[in-house]
Amino acid sequence: MMKQKILIVEDDKSIVHFMKRALEDEQYQVMIAESARDAKAIFLSHLPSLVLLDLGLPDQDGMLLLGEMKMQHPEIPVIVVSARTWEDEKVKALDMGADDYVAKPFGISELKARIRTALRHASLIQSGTPTEDGIFKRGDLVLDVPHHRVTLAGERIHITAHEFQILELLFRNQGKVLTYSYMINQIWGSYVSTDNQILRVNMANIRRKLKEDPVKPKYIETELGVGYRMMDE
Ligand code: CA
Repeated sequence: MMKQKILIVEDDKSIVHFMKRALEDEQYQVMIAESARDAKAIFLSHLPSLVLLDLGLPDQDGMLLLGEMKMQHPEIPVIVVSARTWEDEKVKALDMGADDYVAKPFGISELKARIRTALRHASLIQSGTPTEDGIFKRGDLVLDVPHHRVTLAGERIHITAHEFQILELLFRNQGKVLTYSYMINQIWGSYVSTDNQILRVNMANIRRKLKEDPVKPKYIETELGVGYRMMDE
């Protein structure tokens, strides 16, 4: 079996060392770039399966590098791993096409889980296979796209067309944070104001219908100030 290649773009040697060891334990082939310049060369010549990208690089802002990589190869997932934890930085990275965002300091098991999710997504998109028969499941929740039906522990739930679209969008991107503006754009189109109110009202209704515990949600996580994520694994 071909090993999956992961490109680590990071100038902090201790973090590089730590990530490299952990990822090689998982049988990934690891490549390292300590500058944006090296990253571009390796990215184009090796076409990695996934990129872990630090935003604070010595020679260029990682955000610019993210934009370039996504322009050249949008199919290659990029996970931003950054000490910048401001909400608007996360939103910006995700809106620029980052597949996920992990804040430093991070736990290695969390990072590995995010990598698996991003790789699985990438392979689904590349092979063009939707999930079996357009049916999405998480725990007791089932979304049946062809029949336009949602059930919770086998019981039909009545939801509006917009609520259905929101659930479908979240399921299609399971494990990935979707930003408010991305979701609003996908559901209502760009003519709707950037005010998130319409989305928040719909999410509140969905959560009530799914009997979500706001403290410990089972299905949909809120990334405060950023967006929502359908939980995975
Ligand atoms: Ca750095």
